[in-house]
Amino acid sequence: MAQAGKKPKMDFSGKGLFDRLELTPIINASGTMTSLGASRVNGEAMAAAAAMSQRFVSIDELQSHACGTIARCTGSEAGFITSCTAAGVSLGVAASITGSDLHLMERLPDTTGLASKVVMQAGHSVNYGAPIEQAARLAGAEVVMFGYSTEANVYQLESILGHNPDVVAGLYVVSHHTPQEGLVSLGDFAKAFARRKLPVIVDMAAEYDLRISERLGVDYTVYSSHKFLGGTTGGIVAGKKDLVRSAYLQNHGIGRKMKIGKEGIIGAMAALEAWMERDHDADAARQQEILNLWEKELGQAKGLGLRMVADCTGNPITRLEITVDPGLALLHAWELADRLRQDAPRIHVREQFIENQVILLEPCNLDIDEAKEVARRIIEVLKQAKEKADGRAMGFDEYKRAGHEAMMGWPEGFQKK
Ligand SMILES: *Cc1c(COP(=O)(O)O)cnc(C)c1O
Repeated sequence: MAQAGKKPKMDFSGKGLFDRLELTPIINASGTMTSLGASRVNGEAMAAAAAMSQRFVSIDELQSHACGTIARCTGSEAGFITSCTAAGVSLGVAASITGSDLHLMERLPDTTGLASKVVMQAGHSVNYGAPIEQAARLAGAEVVMFGYSTEANVYQLESILGHNPDVVAGLYVVSHHTPQEGLVSLGDFAKAFARRKLPVIVDMAAEYDLRISERLGVDYTVYSSHKFLGGTTGGIVAGKKDLVRSAYLQNHGIGRKMKIGKEGIIGAMAALEAWMERDHDADAARQQEILNLWEKELGQAKGLGLRMVADCTGNPITRLEITVDPGLALLHAWELADRLRQDAPRIHVREQFIENQVILLEPCNLDIDEAKEVARRIIEVLKQAKEKADGRAMGFDEYKRAGHEAMMGWPEGFQKK
């Protein structure tokens, strides 16, 4: 016990931090998940954030330089940093409603009497941890959908736009979260809005293609600083200058609730700069080495079908797809995923298609030792399922419900017993 007035010295070193809080170490083979801390923040971003944390700076001035960095790296006219991609979407929607009227910015999300409809296709109504529609509604918008969950057409969009004079913007999502077939392309979507001089807001949170707005003439795009860029937590807005300025000025209104600090602004700027300098070929080679290792180590495992799959939205990521045959592996894919999280370090795999007995391993956030541990533990879980014959006990519905019950058990349920 520490004596009164004599606090033990805090140890904020990597291991000390985890030991003192009894935090569970994680090996992240799932990808850049915001809920797992997204990515390893690169040295450039951390150094810039640490240096800035000790200084005073005019945020408007700093953001004006962020604007320049973003313009250089994305080819867009302007940009700024906000707290995350979801915030960037809300601010873009807000800007589409208020234009440059400062008083209207203060009035949001009350949009009484204002044009405030935002149009999106039903297939883009995604949940990235929170529903995207809510990001629009937070700014006071009403979301109008066209098309169906896996199918949408330009004629539906044209009809909606033709019959709704109070549309202020289109909202588009580029992501693995959406169906990849049957929907209206960004090119067609942008054209329909451009003809009416209406902006399109694009959620590109996890997409590597920084220059898409330049190529397609899109008005407003948002990227996460903390995902593939390996920056500190933030959202990077890039787009046309007038709309970007209006979105930035929302910081005097709803944007205040999505504030980013000086360290987050400079951290995102440094991550962008570092991205331009990075040796992407070396990254790809390191990831390929991990994939080869997994293929070799898991190739002989009974009941696992392996396949290398390219990323569905064209990001330069290859993942190992593992199809579990429960008849041979003697457990379901979700039981495998669940059991990989039981021991420390917890291993998180990508569960996008888990209902179909498929897990994906993503190499991006791993070093070679962690990758070896992932393979070793998968083999171990399979071996134990065979020895104990305790697999195929939990149905998928039950697995899904257990996940939601765990959420409701916060905070106690998330601490070591
Ligand atoms: C991760 C993600 C988000 C959320 O990004 P944050 O920066 O964490 O708010 C939004 N949209 C998509 C498509 C995502 O993948």
